[in-house]
Amino acid sequence: METPLPPCPQCTLDDVSLQGTHYLCNTCGHEWPAELAADEELVRDANGNILASGDAVVLIKDLKVKGSSTVLKLGTKLKGIRVVGGGDHAVEHGGYMLKQAFLRKV
Ligand SMILES: [Zn+2]
Repeated sequence: METPLPPCPQCTLDDVSLQGTHYLCNTCGHEWPAELAADEELVRDANGNILASGDAVVLIKDLKVKGSSTVLKLGTKLKGIRVVGGGDHAVEHGGYMLKQAFLRKV
């Protein structure tokens, strides 16, 4: 039995095909990794926009990095985030786990 493909996280339509390890939306052309799409829990930014790996975000708050003296400043732009999912620190960038509630997609 074939498992149904998940709808596109970008346009929510379900005309989706599996291309190797990625899903491709035939409607808007959005591509996303298959293993993330299998996760029901979508990661959303401060505005409720869905975050995907490869997105760029801006910090909406100064963020202290756990276990170091590094502070990521409000307004810092992070390109090419990695959405790892799970819990409230579901975004990784440069080895830091970030709280998606303090990020805004740009
Ligand atoms: Zn789409």
